Order: sequence, then structure tokens, then C-alpha cells
Amino acid sequence: MFGSVGALERAGASVHRAWALRSLRRLFPQLGDVEFEAGWFGIIGMTSDNLPRFHKLDRNVVTFSGYNGRGIAPGTVFGSALAFYVLGQVAEKDLPLPVAPVEERRFRAAREALYRAGAQLVHLTEARI
Ligand SMILES: Cc1cc2nc3c(=O)[nH]c(=O)nc-3n(C[C@H](O)[C@H](O)[C@H](O)COP(=O)(O)OP(=O)(O)OC[C@H]3O[C@@H](n4cnc5c(N)ncnc54)[C@H](O)[C@@H]3O)c2cc1C
Repeated sequence: MFGSVGALERAGASVHRAWALRSLRRLFPQLGDVEFEAGWFGIIGMTSDNLPRFHKLDRNVVTFSGYNGRGIAPGTVFGSALAFYVLGQVAEKDLPLPVAPVEERRFRAAREALYRAGAQLVHLTEARI
């Protein structure tokens, strides 16, 4: 399995796949000309300061989110904390994060396009030298 940033769609599909193959062959030259059997990508929830958020969306509707692509460990820890909170066994002040208001991220489409272009640019050039 090989992972990085970048969406496997439109021009990005071939750029990122070619980068992954170059990197794989450079790291493990003994593998020879292997191909990937599958590729997948997804959307990552980013926050302005790269920190997760705790939101109270409505009465009895609470959530942790915004893991900025690092959600496997914190998602597990926060999920457990949330379960104790919902059961009334942990007070709100003892949760890992304070309550934050839900905010609309400004220039979201432009930022997304910038990240996509940046990822492609890096992968176009990286692992060639
Ligand atoms: C492309 C990509 C790469 C990532 N890379 C990393 C990484 O390298 N490191 C890292 O730490 N994090 C990474 N993340 C983030 C990480 O995967 C998530 O933050 C984490 O998986 C969130 O865990 P979760 O248990 O909250 O949700 P999920 O893992 O999404 O689990 C939710 C589960 O609930 C199920 N479900 C949904 N609705 C229902 C329903 N109605 N009934 C029954 N089941 C339902 C879903 O099928 C799913 O199995 C990545 C995310 C993406 C998209």
C-alpha cells in the first residue's frame, strides 16, 4: 500500500499514479515492474489551524470532526470520550476539546483547487532525481 496527498481524478489520476510507481520502484527496486491493483482517494476535512473541533450541532447532537487527515488515532480516542460524555460519565469541561462554533471556511473552492494543483506539481517533479 502506498499513500500520499492528491485526488485520483482528471489529470491528477495519471500524475499521482506515476509518482507512486516511481517512488515504489525507487524504494523497492527488487520488485521490478509491478503495477497497482487498485487506487482510491477521498476528501479530508481541514480546519484553519489544523486542529480538530468539538461541536454541539443541536440539542443532543454532538460531534468531533476536522481531523485534517490524521483521524485514525484521535478519532478512536475522541469517539471513546464522546461515548462517556453521552452516557453522562464525563463532564463537558473534561472533554479533550472545548465547544467551538461551526464556521464556514472562506474561499473553500479556491483553497481546494490550490491544494489539488500543489499536490500535482509536487508529484510531477518529485522522485525523478
Ligand atoms: C483518503 C484518506 C486518507 C486518509 N489517511 C489518513 C492517514 O494516513 N492517517 C490518519 O490518521 N487518518 C487518515 N484519514 C482520516 C481517517 O481515515 C478518518 O479520520 C477516520 O477513519 C475516521 O474514523 P471514524 O471511525 O470516525 O469514521 P469512519 O472510519 O468513516 O467509520 C464510519 C463507519 O460507519 C459506517 N457507517 C456510516 N453510516 C452508517 C450507517 N447509517 N449504518 C451503519 N454504519 C454506517 C461506515 O461504513 C464506516 O465503516 C484519511 C482519510 C481519507 C479519506
